Amino acid sequence: MIKVLDSFVADKIAAGEVIERPVSAVKELVENSIDAGAASIIVEIRNGGKSYIRVTDDGCGISFDEAETAFLRHATSKISSIADLDNIVSLGFRGEALASISAVSRLTMVTRRAEDMSGVKLVLHGGRVVSKDRTGCNTGTTVIVEDLFYNTPARRKFMKTDAREASSIIELIQQYAVCYAGIRFMMINNGMTLFTTNGDGDPYNVVRMLYPNIARNGLIPVENGHIKGYVADPGSTMNTRKGQLFFVNGRLVSSALIEKGLEEGYQGRIFSGFPAAVLFIEAEPCDIDVNIHPGKQEIRFLKQDEVKKEISDAVSYAVMTDAGIPKGFVKNIEKAPEKQLNVDVQQKDETEQTSIRDFLKNLDRHEPYVPSESVEMPATAEEKEEIYTPVSMPAQAEIQPAQKPAPFEFSDLVFKGYVFNTYIIMQDSDELYIFDQHAAHERIFYEKFMRGYNNSAHSPQPVLTAFTISVSNDVYSMSGEWLGDLIRMGYDIEDFGDCTFIVRGIPPYMTVDEAEGFARGYAEAAGEAGGSNKVVIDKLIMKSCKSAVKAHDVLSEQEINDLMSELADCDNPYSCPHGRPTFIRISSYDIERSFRRK
Ligand code: ADP
Ligand code: MG
Repeated sequence: MIKVLDSFVADKIAAGEVIERPVSAVKELVENSIDAGAASIIVEIRNGGKSYIRVTDDGCGISFDEAETAFLRHATSKISSIADLDNIVSLGFRGEALASISAVSRLTMVTRRAEDMSGVKLVLHGGRVVSKDRTGCNTGTTVIVEDLFYNTPARRKFMKTDAREASSIIELIQQYAVCYAGIRFMMINNGMTLFTTNGDGDPYNVVRMLYPNIARNGLIPVENGHIKGYVADPGSTMNTRKGQLFFVNGRLVSSALIEKGLEEGYQGRIFSGFPAAVLFIEAEPCDIDVNIHPGKQEIRFLKQDEVKKEISDAVSYAVMTDAGIPKGFVKNIEKAPEKQLNVDVQQKDETEQTSIRDFLKNLDRHEPYVPSESVEMPATAEEKEEIYTPVSMPAQAEIQPAQKPAPFEFSDLVFKGYVFNTYIIMQDSDELYIFDQHAAHERIFYEKFMRGYNNSAHSPQPVLTAFTISVSNDVYSMSGEWLGDLIRMGYDIEDFGDCTFIVRGIPPYMTVDEAEGFARGYAEAAGEAGGSNKVVIDKLIMKSCKSAVKAHDVLSEQEINDLMSELADCDNPYSCPHGRPTFIRISSYDIERSFRRK
C-alpha cells in the first residue's frame, strides 16, 4: 500500500540529507546569520555540538508573526520565483535548514527585529512547536539546538567523537571568519572562548590569527581580475589541503578545478605537499552551479577552462614575480623527457626481478642518465620527484632471502664534491654516485622516528632556548591524538595554552629547525588522519619527515660524512620513505660513451 508519509516522518528523512552531523547544523545557522546581515556572530558548542549548539547574531531578526513560518519546509525569505534561482546572492535559499534542524533536535529560537518593542521565544521539539512567548531580548537572533538527533538514533551512531565533531565545527568557523573578515566571530567550546576575531574586514589579519601555520612565512598577495587573496611561496607547503581555502561569491567551496588552477599556477615548483592559499573568487551567479549538493560545498563552473586559467595566471603572476625565478627556466625543464624515462625504468622494473644492487647497476644503462643533446639530466628537486615517483624500489620485505643482495659498500665511497647545495658526489673504483641530500635525510629521520616510536625512546636532547609551536584551533583541539606520539618519539613538548606548545627538548639527531618542521607537520597531518594505530603512525612519520627537511640547507664536509654513515646504517638506504632513490649511479663506461670514447 502506498501511503503519503506523515509530515514528521518526511521531515526526519529529509533532515538526514541536509543535517548529517553537528557541523552541518552549525553551518546552516551561521549562514542564516550572515544572510541576516550580522556584524557579530557567536558560536558556542558543547560536546562537539551533540548536546548543545548556540548561534547568536545581531542581524535583522524575525517578527513575532513570522517566527513559526521560518520553520516550515520551503519557507524562505530569500527567493520567490524560479528566475531568482539564477541570481542567488544569499547563502541560503532552499528554506529547508530550520525545518530540518528542528525536526531532529530540541530547538529554541529567541529573536527580535530592531523595530519591534519585544522579541519572541519559540521552542520546538522534534519539529513540533512546544511554546511561543513574547520576551525581552537583544536585536538579532539566537538559535539553540539541544540534543541533536535525540529522536533519530541511527543518525546519532554516525557521529564521531566529541573532539572530532568539535574540531570540524571550529574549523568551519575559522573558515567563515576568514571569508567574512568584516564580521566579528567568537567561538566558544565547552565554556572556553577559543577566539574572537576583530571584524576589521582584513582577511589577512584573520588568517594570521587563526592559521598561524598557514601564514608563518608570510603570504604573497594575489590580485588579478576576479581572483583575490593570498598564496604561500612554493617552499612553504603543508601536508594537507587544510591550508587551502576557496571562496566563491562568499561561499566556502571545495573544487578540484580551483585546486588544479592553483597548482598549475606554481608551474611545477611545488617540491612536496600543498601550498597554502586563501582565494576569493567572484563569479557571475549565472556562471556557477551551487545546487549540485545539499551541503552546497561542491561548486561547478560552467566555463571551466577559463576559470582554471584565470586562477593559475593570477597565482603565477604573484608567485613568479616574488620568487624571482625566470619563467623560461621552469618552462624548459618542464619539457624534460620524463615519459620516456618512466616507461623505460618501469618496464625494466616489471620485467625483471632485480636486486637492489642490480637495479642500481641497471639504472645507469638507460639513456636519460647520459647527457646528450636531446636528453637533459633532471635539474631540480621537484623534477626529480616527478621522474622517479613511479619507480618503486623493491621493499626489503619483498626480497626473497635466497636472492638477498650483497649490501652496498658505503665504506668504499670517496667524497668528490657537493653541487647545487643538494647533491653529494661520491666515487668508488669505477662508478660515480650522486646522492640526494634531502631524500637521504628523509630516510634517516624516518627510520629513527620509527625506531623511537616503537621503542618509546623518550630521550630528548634539551634545546638551549625553548621554542613554541603554534597550531590552529582545530589541530589544537586534537592534540590528544598527536602530542603523546611526539613525546614518545623523543620530544620534550608540553601544552602551553592558547594553541601553542612549548618545546624544551628535541630528538638528539635533529637540528632545532628540523625538529620544529617535523613536529608541526606531524601535528597537522595527525589532526587530519585521526586515530593512531601503527599503520597511521607510519604514514604520518613518512609524511612529516618531508616537513623536517629544508631545501637548500648547505652541508659542511663533516655533516656530509655524518649523513653518509647514518644512511649506511639504515635498513633501507636506497630510497626515501616515499620510494624515490636516495642516490643514483653513473658508470665510467657511460661517461666515456657520452664523450664518444667508447
Ligand atoms: P533559507 O536560509 O534557505 O531561507 P532557512 O530554513 O535556513 O532557509 O531559514 C528560513 C528563513 O528564516 C530565512 O529565509 C530567513 O528569513 C529566516 N531566518 C533564519 N535564520 C535567521 C536569522 N539568524 N536571522 C534572521 N532571519 C533568519
Ligand atoms: Mg538558511
